[in-house]
Amino acid sequence: MDVTLKGPFIALADQKETIAARGDTLGELLEAVAQAEPGLGRRMFTAQGAIAPELDVRVNGVDARLLGGVKAALLPQDSVVLAPYPLEPMTPRQAERYARQMILGEIGAAGQARLTAARVAVIGAGGLGAPAATYLAAAGVGHLVIIDGDRVERSNLQRQPLHRDEDVGRPKAESAARSLRAINPDIEVIAVEEFLAADNALELLRGCDVIVNGSDNFPTRYLVSDAAVLLGRPLVDASILRFEGRLSVYLPRQGCYRCLFPEPPPPGSVPSCAEAGVIGALGGQMGSLQALETIKLITGAGESLGGRLLVYDALMGEERRFRLRRDPHCAACGDHPTLTELVDYEAFCGVEAPREAQEGLGIPVPEALALREDPRVQWLDVRAQGAVDRPTIPGALRLPLEELGSGEALDGARPVVVFCEIGRRSLLAAERLMRHGIDARSLEGGIVAWTAAGLDLTC
Ligand SMILES: [Zn+2]
Repeated sequence: MDVTLKGPFIALADQKETIAARGDTLGELLEAVAQAEPGLGRRMFTAQGAIAPELDVRVNGVDARLLGGVKAALLPQDSVVLAPYPLEPMTPRQAERYARQMILGEIGAAGQARLTAARVAVIGAGGLGAPAATYLAAAGVGHLVIIDGDRVERSNLQRQPLHRDEDVGRPKAESAARSLRAINPDIEVIAVEEFLAADNALELLRGCDVIVNGSDNFPTRYLVSDAAVLLGRPLVDASILRFEGRLSVYLPRQGCYRCLFPEPPPPGSVPSCAEAGVIGALGGQMGSLQALETIKLITGAGESLGGRLLVYDALMGEERRFRLRRDPHCAACGDHPTLTELVDYEAFCGVEAPREAQEGLGIPVPEALALREDPRVQWLDVRAQGAVDRPTIPGALRLPLEELGSGEALDGARPVVVFCEIGRRSLLAAERLMRHGIDARSLEGGIVAWTAAGLDLTC
């Protein structure tokens, strides 16, 4: 392929504007260029073999650092351009703010300028997104897009220190943006008070250099992964549950979440943090690692976690690493991808009912309480299998959502109040029972709301 040179690099290569070279990775290609043009070659790499900070390498217009630097995978039809990185002068206030990281050789003034120019999307301003966004803002990432359609709940504050007690009830994206601007007024923070969905994802994520996923559900995880593949952008993904954290970086053309998990787990089979619990400091740990990997990608510092999965067992204080390989048969990033646009992820993940079908099925605790006197009403606990020995509402039948079927175990002629830990699984269950002709309502807020109202549970 032809490598195009710009600016002073043309003079370093004896006035050549293009150099023909070959390589399956960017490292191989740049080595070939350096051998052909030693004058230029001396300016291309650091002593550690990374791309020199002042060198701007674009593959099809995208900063090569975001594609994995020297490890970026190349195809013969790619266009590669080498140019000097334009360094904007910094204000004294910025120089003071970023002094501690700019003295790091791997960051320097060029790395800081790259951070200032970067645009990063953070999906979810929760347990992971809040710490990730905090460190990205503090490090001076110039443009942060915070996407979250939720509102702050008091139960979030245990692990999302970006939000304060007085923010309870406020949109999370707005609350996060306000805190981030207070940490660093020099950056732009864009609050998007929407949930990421198939109909807005490409528009919101297009133009972002790195996508940081802090969402906590499978439909969004697949959606974000597919969008990152379609947009050709790196994805810094993480998840936390109980005491275990996971982190992986998916670089363009080097594998995606679907390569690892082509099929989602059966609905309800993996509990949420609301159901199974999570320790807040673990979110801080994994979220700040997400920020660190993002900063490494933007500045080209060190070696990206790309192609590896890190699993951190906080209880034992141990971590394990696994290699991720691109699956050539992957529907999204394989050699012959079948997934060329975003799809219905709730249906894909078996989250069966559309939101409209679930509307009006909720019943608040006081109304449900009034039904306690009615002997015809059946009370149904649909929490996951692991909840069988946890206290429940007296007289309730325990039947995990996975075993509910079409409600064969129930008396179809009698009304049902379904509940779970927080009211999400029960909403799915109620919608399914209604479809099978059983009069069902879902207890709003679940067991959490029930106990918050001072009502008793039994074992
Ligand atoms: Zn894939």
